[in-house]
Amino acid sequence: MAKTASSKTSRKPARSKRAASKPSQRSGNRAKSKPKTKKSSASRRAASPATSYDKKIIALVYDFDGTLSPKPMQEYAFLPKIGVDARAFWAEANRISKQEGADVLITYMHLMYQKAKAAGVRIDRDDLVAQGADVELYPGVEDWFQQIEEYAHSVAGDHGVTLRHYLISSGLSEIIEGTTIYSKFHNIFASEYWFDAYALPYPKRVITDTGKTQYLFRINKGLEDHAQSINEHMDEALRPVPFANMIYFGDGDTDVPSMAVMRKNGGHAIAVHPPGGAQAKCINLFEAGRVDFFAGADYRRGSDLFQRTCLLIDRIVADIRVREETWHMASYLK
Ligand SMILES: [Mg+2]
Repeated sequence: MAKTASSKTSRKPARSKRAASKPSQRSGNRAKSKPKTKKSSASRRAASPATSYDKKIIALVYDFDGTLSPKPMQEYAFLPKIGVDARAFWAEANRISKQEGADVLITYMHLMYQKAKAAGVRIDRDDLVAQGADVELYPGVEDWFQQIEEYAHSVAGDHGVTLRHYLISSGLSEIIEGTTIYSKFHNIFASEYWFDAYALPYPKRVITDTGKTQYLFRINKGLEDHAQSINEHMDEALRPVPFANMIYFGDGDTDVPSMAVMRKNGGHAIAVHPPGGAQAKCINLFEAGRVDFFAGADYRRGSDLFQRTCLLIDRIVADIRVREETWHMASYLK
Protein backbone atom coordinates (compact mmCIF):
# COMPACT_ATOMS: atom_id res chain seq x y z
CA MET A 1 0.00 0.00 0.00
CA ALA A 2 0.91 3.63 -0.19
CA LYS A 3 2.70 4.24 3.05
CA THR A 4 5.49 6.24 1.51
CA ALA A 5 3.25 8.42 -0.60
CA SER A 6 0.82 9.21 2.21
CA SER A 7 3.36 10.08 4.80
CA LYS A 8 5.14 12.41 2.44
CA THR A 9 2.06 14.34 1.36
CA SER A 10 -0.51 15.59 3.83
CA ARG A 11 -1.72 13.72 6.84
CA LYS A 12 -5.41 14.19 6.25
CA PRO A 13 -5.80 12.34 2.96
CA ALA A 14 -3.49 9.68 4.31
CA ARG A 15 -5.77 9.15 7.26
CA SER A 16 -8.86 9.09 5.13
CA LYS A 17 -7.14 6.58 2.91
CA ARG A 18 -6.44 4.25 5.80
CA ALA A 19 -10.01 4.69 6.90
CA ALA A 20 -11.19 4.18 3.37
CA SER A 21 -9.37 0.95 2.95
CA LYS A 22 -10.77 -0.59 6.13
CA PRO A 23 -14.41 -1.22 5.29
CA SER A 24 -13.65 -2.95 2.04
CA GLN A 25 -10.90 -5.07 3.50
CA ARG A 26 -12.92 -6.14 6.48
CA SER A 27 -16.31 -6.67 4.98
CA GLY A 28 -15.01 -7.93 1.66
CA ASN A 29 -18.04 -6.27 0.11
CA ARG A 30 -17.94 -2.54 -0.27
CA ALA A 31 -21.46 -2.28 -1.67
CA LYS A 32 -22.93 -3.39 1.63
CA SER A 33 -20.81 -1.15 3.82
CA LYS A 34 -22.34 2.10 2.59
CA PRO A 35 -25.83 2.94 1.49
CA LYS A 36 -26.15 3.68 -2.21
CA THR A 37 -26.57 7.28 -3.19
CA LYS A 38 -27.82 8.92 -6.34
CA LYS A 39 -24.29 9.04 -7.76
CA SER A 40 -25.39 5.76 -9.31
CA SER A 41 -23.88 4.48 -12.55
CA ALA A 42 -20.39 5.98 -12.51
CA SER A 43 -19.73 5.27 -8.87
CA ARG A 44 -21.27 1.82 -9.05
CA ARG A 45 -19.11 0.95 -12.01
CA ALA A 46 -15.99 2.25 -10.31
CA ALA A 47 -16.83 0.38 -7.14
CA SER A 48 -17.61 -2.98 -8.65
CA PRO A 49 -14.33 -4.27 -10.09
CA ALA A 50 -11.60 -2.90 -7.86
CA THR A 51 -10.89 -3.14 -4.18
CA SER A 52 -7.83 -0.95 -4.61
CA TYR A 53 -6.66 1.62 -7.14
CA ASP A 54 -5.44 -0.46 -10.05
CA LYS A 55 -4.18 1.93 -12.75
CA LYS A 56 -0.54 1.60 -11.83
CA ILE A 57 0.94 0.22 -15.02
CA ILE A 58 3.37 2.58 -16.73
CA ALA A 59 3.78 1.79 -20.43
CA LEU A 60 6.86 2.82 -22.38
CA VAL A 61 6.05 2.41 -26.06
CA TYR A 62 8.78 2.36 -28.69
CA ASP A 63 9.08 2.67 -32.42
CA PHE A 64 11.95 0.48 -33.68
CA ASP A 65 13.66 1.71 -36.87
CA GLY A 66 15.52 4.96 -36.19
CA THR A 67 14.47 4.87 -32.54
CA LEU A 68 16.09 1.78 -31.00
CA SER A 69 18.16 0.97 -34.08
CA PRO A 70 19.97 3.38 -36.42
CA LYS A 71 18.76 1.97 -39.75
CA PRO A 72 15.64 0.23 -41.09
CA MET A 73 15.97 -3.40 -39.92
CA GLN A 74 15.86 -4.81 -43.46
CA GLU A 75 19.14 -3.08 -44.25
CA TYR A 76 21.25 -5.15 -41.85
CA ALA A 77 20.84 -8.57 -43.45
CA PHE A 78 17.94 -9.02 -45.85
CA LEU A 79 18.94 -6.49 -48.49
CA PRO A 80 22.69 -7.33 -48.40
CA LYS A 81 21.83 -11.04 -48.62
CA ILE A 82 19.92 -10.54 -51.86
CA GLY A 83 22.52 -8.09 -53.16
CA VAL A 84 20.24 -5.06 -53.26
CA ASP A 85 21.39 -1.53 -52.47
CA ALA A 86 19.29 -0.13 -49.61
CA ARG A 87 18.87 3.36 -50.97
CA ALA A 88 17.86 2.07 -54.40
CA PHE A 89 15.44 -0.40 -52.80
CA TRP A 90 13.55 2.22 -50.78
CA ALA A 91 13.52 4.59 -53.75
CA GLU A 92 11.99 1.88 -55.89
CA ALA A 93 9.40 0.98 -53.24
CA ASN A 94 8.42 4.64 -52.91
CA ARG A 95 8.26 5.10 -56.67
CA ILE A 96 6.04 2.05 -57.20
CA SER A 97 3.73 2.97 -54.36
CA LYS A 98 3.26 6.50 -55.74
CA GLN A 99 2.83 5.27 -59.28
CA GLU A 100 0.30 2.61 -58.33
CA GLY A 101 -1.39 4.48 -55.50
CA ALA A 102 -0.40 1.57 -53.28
CA ASP A 103 0.39 1.63 -49.60
CA VAL A 104 4.15 2.05 -49.31
CA LEU A 105 4.49 -0.57 -46.58
CA ILE A 106 2.60 -3.25 -48.46
CA THR A 107 4.69 -2.34 -51.49
CA TYR A 108 8.02 -2.73 -49.71
CA MET A 109 6.98 -6.00 -48.08
CA HIS A 110 6.05 -7.42 -51.46
CA LEU A 111 9.08 -5.98 -53.24
CA MET A 112 11.49 -7.58 -50.75
CA TYR A 113 10.37 -11.05 -51.76
CA GLN A 114 10.14 -10.21 -55.44
CA LYS A 115 13.79 -9.14 -55.29
CA ALA A 116 14.77 -12.23 -53.31
CA LYS A 117 13.06 -14.45 -55.85
CA ALA A 118 14.77 -12.62 -58.71
CA ALA A 119 18.12 -13.17 -56.98
CA GLY A 120 17.33 -16.86 -56.51
CA VAL A 121 17.48 -16.53 -52.72
CA ARG A 122 14.88 -18.28 -50.63
CA ILE A 123 14.25 -16.57 -47.29
CA ASP A 124 11.75 -18.15 -44.95
CA ARG A 125 10.52 -17.24 -41.51
CA ASP A 126 13.49 -18.85 -39.74
CA ASP A 127 15.90 -16.92 -41.95
CA LEU A 128 14.20 -13.63 -41.09
CA VAL A 129 14.37 -14.41 -37.38
CA ALA A 130 18.06 -15.28 -37.73
CA GLN A 131 18.62 -11.92 -39.43
CA GLY A 132 17.52 -10.19 -36.25
CA ALA A 133 20.93 -11.04 -34.75
CA ASP A 134 22.55 -8.62 -37.24
CA VAL A 135 20.39 -5.65 -36.29
CA GLU A 136 22.45 -2.93 -34.66
CA LEU A 137 21.03 -1.16 -31.62
CA TYR A 138 21.77 2.33 -30.37
CA PRO A 139 24.21 2.59 -27.44
CA GLY A 140 22.76 1.43 -24.15
CA VAL A 141 19.55 -0.07 -25.56
CA GLU A 142 20.22 -3.57 -24.24
CA ASP A 143 20.62 -2.36 -20.64
CA TRP A 144 18.03 0.40 -20.85
CA PHE A 145 14.99 -1.71 -20.07
CA GLN A 146 16.22 -3.01 -16.75
CA GLN A 147 17.84 0.27 -15.72
CA ILE A 148 14.73 2.33 -16.40
CA GLU A 149 12.63 -0.25 -14.53
CA GLU A 150 15.00 0.03 -11.58
CA TYR A 151 14.61 3.79 -11.69
CA ALA A 152 10.82 3.58 -11.74
CA HIS A 153 10.86 1.23 -8.78
CA SER A 154 13.23 3.49 -6.89
CA VAL A 155 10.80 6.39 -7.37
CA ALA A 156 7.63 4.43 -6.72
CA GLY A 157 8.97 2.55 -3.71
CA ASP A 158 6.54 -0.11 -2.51
CA HIS A 159 3.73 1.60 -4.37
CA GLY A 160 2.84 -1.30 -6.62
CA VAL A 161 3.80 0.41 -9.87
CA THR A 162 4.60 -1.91 -12.80
CA LEU A 163 6.61 -0.71 -15.78
CA ARG A 164 6.05 -2.37 -19.15
CA HIS A 165 7.80 -1.95 -22.50
CA TYR A 166 5.84 -2.19 -25.76
CA LEU A 167 7.02 -2.09 -29.35
CA ILE A 168 4.91 -0.75 -32.22
CA SER A 169 6.82 -1.03 -35.47
CA SER A 170 6.17 -0.83 -39.18
CA GLY A 171 9.16 -3.20 -39.49
CA LEU A 172 8.95 -6.97 -39.43
CA SER A 173 8.01 -8.92 -36.34
CA GLU A 174 10.11 -11.88 -37.51
CA ILE A 175 13.34 -9.83 -37.57
CA ILE A 176 12.49 -8.23 -34.22
CA GLU A 177 12.04 -11.72 -32.77
CA GLY A 178 15.68 -12.43 -33.55
CA THR A 179 17.07 -9.34 -31.83
CA THR A 180 18.64 -9.50 -28.38
CA ILE A 181 15.92 -7.26 -26.90
CA TYR A 182 12.90 -9.30 -28.03
CA SER A 183 12.24 -10.66 -24.55
CA LYS A 184 12.20 -7.20 -22.99
CA PHE A 185 8.81 -6.30 -24.42
CA HIS A 186 5.50 -7.05 -22.80
CA ASN A 187 3.96 -7.08 -26.27
CA ILE A 188 5.11 -6.40 -29.82
CA PHE A 189 2.92 -5.06 -32.59
CA ALA A 190 4.73 -5.13 -35.93
CA SER A 191 4.15 -5.88 -39.57
CA GLU A 192 4.20 -9.58 -40.34
CA TYR A 193 4.18 -12.04 -43.24
CA TRP A 194 2.04 -15.01 -44.08
CA PHE A 195 4.56 -17.58 -45.26
CA ASP A 196 2.48 -20.44 -46.55
CA ALA A 197 -0.67 -18.86 -47.88
CA TYR A 198 0.64 -17.70 -51.25
CA ALA A 199 3.41 -18.38 -53.73
CA LEU A 200 5.41 -15.53 -52.22
CA PRO A 201 5.28 -14.54 -48.55
CA TYR A 202 2.42 -12.08 -48.36
CA PRO A 203 1.81 -9.21 -45.90
CA LYS A 204 -0.39 -10.55 -43.13
CA ARG A 205 -0.38 -7.44 -41.01
CA VAL A 206 0.89 -4.03 -42.03
CA ILE A 207 1.40 -1.36 -39.43
CA THR A 208 1.26 2.08 -40.99
CA ASP A 209 1.93 5.34 -39.19
CA THR A 210 -1.76 5.98 -38.55
CA GLY A 211 -2.31 2.26 -37.87
CA LYS A 212 0.16 2.54 -34.98
CA THR A 213 -2.35 4.61 -33.05
CA GLN A 214 -4.71 1.61 -32.92
CA TYR A 215 -2.16 -0.16 -30.75
CA LEU A 216 -1.87 2.76 -28.36
CA PHE A 217 -5.61 2.40 -27.80
CA ARG A 218 -5.24 -1.38 -27.45
CA ILE A 219 -2.70 -0.82 -24.64
CA ASN A 220 -4.89 1.90 -23.14
CA LYS A 221 -8.01 -0.30 -23.18
CA GLY A 222 -6.25 -3.55 -22.26
CA LEU A 223 -7.35 -5.16 -25.55
CA GLU A 224 -3.99 -6.35 -26.81
CA ASP A 225 -5.22 -9.41 -28.67
CA HIS A 226 -5.97 -8.76 -32.34
CA ALA A 227 -9.09 -10.90 -32.04
CA GLN A 228 -10.56 -8.36 -29.63
CA SER A 229 -12.52 -5.53 -31.18
CA ILE A 230 -11.00 -2.15 -30.40
CA ASN A 231 -13.77 0.05 -31.73
CA GLU A 232 -16.41 -0.17 -29.03
CA HIS A 233 -16.55 2.71 -26.61
CA MET A 234 -14.95 2.05 -23.26
CA ASP A 235 -15.44 4.42 -20.38
CA GLU A 236 -12.21 6.09 -19.26
CA ALA A 237 -12.69 4.68 -15.77
CA LEU A 238 -12.48 1.15 -17.13
CA ARG A 239 -9.29 1.57 -19.17
CA PRO A 240 -6.40 -0.15 -17.39
CA VAL A 241 -3.51 1.99 -18.71
CA PRO A 242 -4.43 5.70 -18.85
CA PHE A 243 -2.61 7.67 -21.55
CA ALA A 244 -1.19 9.74 -18.71
CA ASN A 245 0.80 6.61 -17.72
CA MET A 246 2.35 6.22 -21.17
CA ILE A 247 5.49 7.54 -22.86
CA TYR A 248 5.93 7.08 -26.62
CA PHE A 249 9.46 7.04 -28.11
CA GLY A 250 9.94 7.64 -31.84
CA ASP A 251 12.28 9.18 -34.38
CA GLY A 252 9.44 10.88 -36.20
CA ASP A 253 9.32 8.96 -39.47
CA THR A 254 6.19 6.96 -38.74
CA ASP A 255 5.39 8.44 -35.36
CA VAL A 256 3.60 11.75 -35.82
CA PRO A 257 0.04 10.38 -35.49
CA SER A 258 1.07 8.36 -32.42
CA MET A 259 2.76 11.33 -30.81
CA ALA A 260 -0.33 13.45 -31.52
CA VAL A 261 -2.63 10.83 -29.96
CA MET A 262 -0.42 10.62 -26.90
CA ARG A 263 -0.25 14.36 -26.33
CA LYS A 264 -3.94 14.99 -27.02
CA ASN A 265 -4.92 12.36 -24.48
CA GLY A 266 -2.65 13.51 -21.68
CA GLY A 267 0.20 11.12 -22.51
CA HIS A 268 3.85 11.82 -23.14
CA ALA A 269 6.21 11.55 -26.09
CA ILE A 270 9.95 11.80 -26.65
CA ALA A 271 11.59 12.15 -30.07
CA VAL A 272 15.07 10.80 -30.70
CA HIS A 273 17.70 11.60 -33.30
CA PRO A 274 21.00 9.90 -34.13
CA PRO A 275 23.49 10.80 -31.35
CA GLY A 276 25.51 13.72 -32.65
CA GLY A 277 23.42 13.71 -35.84
CA ALA A 278 20.65 15.75 -37.41
CA GLN A 279 18.12 17.21 -35.00
CA ALA A 280 15.91 19.14 -37.45
CA LYS A 281 13.04 16.62 -37.42
CA CYS A 282 13.05 16.53 -33.62
CA ILE A 283 13.13 20.31 -33.36
CA ASN A 284 10.08 20.51 -35.64
CA LEU A 285 8.23 17.97 -33.50
CA PHE A 286 9.17 19.80 -30.32
CA GLU A 287 8.15 23.21 -31.66
CA ALA A 288 4.87 21.80 -32.94
CA GLY A 289 4.12 20.49 -29.44
CA ARG A 290 4.16 16.85 -30.56
CA VAL A 291 6.70 15.82 -27.93
CA ASP A 292 7.61 16.70 -24.37
CA PHE A 293 11.33 16.34 -25.09
CA PHE A 294 13.81 15.24 -27.68
CA ALA A 295 17.29 13.79 -27.25
CA GLY A 296 20.01 11.83 -28.96
CA ALA A 297 19.26 8.10 -29.16
CA ASP A 298 21.78 7.28 -26.45
CA TYR A 299 20.10 4.96 -23.97
CA ARG A 300 22.94 4.73 -21.50
CA ARG A 301 22.32 5.69 -17.89
CA GLY A 302 22.98 9.38 -17.37
CA SER A 303 22.38 10.37 -21.01
CA ASP A 304 19.99 13.21 -21.84
CA LEU A 305 17.46 10.64 -23.01
CA PHE A 306 17.77 8.66 -19.79
CA GLN A 307 17.41 11.74 -17.61
CA ARG A 308 14.47 13.20 -19.53
CA THR A 309 12.69 9.86 -19.40
CA CYS A 310 13.30 9.76 -15.64
CA LEU A 311 11.72 13.20 -15.32
CA LEU A 312 8.56 11.98 -17.04
CA ILE A 313 8.53 8.87 -14.87
CA ASP A 314 8.77 11.12 -11.78
CA ARG A 315 5.69 12.96 -13.00
CA ILE A 316 3.77 9.81 -13.91
CA VAL A 317 4.46 8.20 -10.53
CA ALA A 318 3.38 11.41 -8.77
CA ASP A 319 0.19 11.49 -10.89
CA ILE A 320 -0.54 7.88 -10.02
CA ARG A 321 -0.18 8.67 -6.32
CA VAL A 322 -2.46 11.69 -6.58
CA ARG A 323 -5.12 9.75 -8.51
CA GLU A 324 -4.89 6.88 -6.05
CA GLU A 325 -5.39 9.22 -3.11
CA THR A 326 -8.40 10.75 -4.87
CA TRP A 327 -9.73 7.26 -5.61
CA HIS A 328 -9.48 6.27 -1.97
CA MET A 329 -11.23 9.42 -0.80
CA ALA A 330 -14.00 8.96 -3.37
CA SER A 331 -14.40 5.31 -2.38
CA TYR A 332 -14.74 6.28 1.23
CA LEU A 333 -17.46 8.79 0.46
CA LYS A 334 -19.56 6.35 -1.53
MG1 LIG B 1 11.12 5.03 -36.96
